[in-house]
Amino acid sequence: MNGVFQVDGQELFVKASVGVSFYPRNGQNWNDLFKNAESALYSAKGDAGSSYQAYKPEMDTRGKDRLIMETALYHALEKRQFVLHYQPQFDLLSGLVVGAEALIRWQHPELGMISPSEFIPILEETGLIVSVGEWVLRAACAQNKQWQDAGLPPIRIAVNLSAIQFLQPALAQTIRTVLKETGLFSGYLELEITENIAMYAEDAVIAILDELRAIGIQIAIDDFGTGYSSLSYLKRFPIDKLKIDQSFVRDCQGGINDDGIVMAIIGMGRSLKLKVIAEGVETQMQADFLKLNGCDEVQGYFYGKPMEGGDLALLMAGTVSSNKNFCEAMV
Ligand code: C2E
Ligand code: MG
Ligand code: MG
Repeated sequence: MNGVFQVDGQELFVKASVGVSFYPRNGQNWNDLFKNAESALYSAKGDAGSSYQAYKPEMDTRGKDRLIMETALYHALEKRQFVLHYQPQFDLLSGLVVGAEALIRWQHPELGMISPSEFIPILEETGLIVSVGEWVLRAACAQNKQWQDAGLPPIRIAVNLSAIQFLQPALAQTIRTVLKETGLFSGYLELEITENIAMYAEDAVIAILDELRAIGIQIAIDDFGTGYSSLSYLKRFPIDKLKIDQSFVRDCQGGINDDGIVMAIIGMGRSLKLKVIAEGVETQMQADFLKLNGCDEVQGYFYGKPMEGGDLALLMAGTVSSNKNFCEAMV
């Protein structure tokens, strides 16, 4: 259930999710029916973000799990349970590491290492993403400065930013403070945002992007090709880079259809004078295809999985040459 409305010349996107419970099967009274409909609603939101679900008893445990996770997340930052892993980004022509993407993980004492796709949505819904996001930014910038201070060749660090963080009025100031405190030069920081920010008021988005680029930061559009599909924003938004979504790249081994999409994005990037990076590169064939078609940079399991900071330092120092086997052994 999606709706697009025009209000004062502005497009507004509305999503709806519905949870359903039936009398008498799912409850004898208003309270039980309401509670169960709410469980079904959370399930609908979690599954597709925009759908309906009828109540099933197993939804109770899912709701409980989610509540346990939410409570634990409130304390995760102070308990220092978050860690960053870094995935190298390579220049296709020189073969050198030119950047790294910082990817958060949650090290839970009982549940083990939890992937961001499981908890980032909860951080966003609870608003915790603002403080956790600031921690990520600070930790990633500090790590990059530490690599540089250790004499490693300087690289760019890419940090993912959720739309909620992007729209915080204090964002630019926070970034300035973090850069100052960590001593990292702004040119070595890149922010990854998704196309979905194009849904928000265009003037406001352009103003934020201008402010960030005035600091000297680079902006990349993550998961490019999967979000809001108007391409007109590409020309108007002051950005530096397109990151081709891995769903197109992964299929470009055999599937001719997506070869076309990948080639089209590289061509579009070129004509708009944007750099293009491909993510999710898993095979030699994909790497060859991307090189042949003029893609600038690559990131993916073929070149290196996300790894701890110390291991990326070894990779940059050239201590390990075949990063592929080395990285797979670590994760
Ligand atoms: P993303 O920014 O698109 O990151 C790329 C994801 O693809 C990462 O998953 C990475 O481990 C995975 N990946 C990289 N190369 C390959 C490959 O060759 N094959 C396959 N199958 N996967 C590959 P991860 O670390 O689980 O992160 C998932 C998503 O969580 C990220 O997608 C990003 O949207 C979000 N995320 C991660 N860290 C942060 C953060 O600090 N802040 C915010 N707001 N979001 C984050
Ligand atoms: Mg990313
Ligand atoms: Mg991505």
